[in-house]
Amino acid sequence: MINEELQLKLKQKLEKEKELLEKELQGFAKKSETLKGDWKTRFPKFNGGKIEEEADEIEEYETLLPIEYNLELRLKDINSALNKIKKSGPACKYGICEKCGKSISKERLNACPEAKTCAKCK
Ligand SMILES: [Zn+2]
Repeated sequence: MINEELQLKLKQKLEKEKELLEKELQGFAKKSETLKGDWKTRFPKFNGGKIEEEADEIEEYETLLPIEYNLELRLKDINSALNKIKKSGPACKYGICEKCGKSISKERLNACPEAKTCAKCK
């Protein structure tokens, strides 16, 4: 089990990470108004430019999509970790592997505070 001090440290780390991720996403994507936690990459606006420019913009959009997807997934993991931390006492499942139910090592949580599984179940 992780102690309160470490949990607080990890919580702060997660909150900082969340802020950074949201900032990064806001740079090119828009938060979905209908689906919570969902982000949509903004399609570049065509400003009546040349065909080649439009092709560049479509290419850029296609490059951004998988980036957005990965950032969104991390953000979801971070949010779910933060939700777990909110619960206190025995209801708190933070730091416990979702697959085998064992504690996730401190080293792993330090490196990856949003980890849902232990190093073995990863
Ligand atoms: Zn496990």
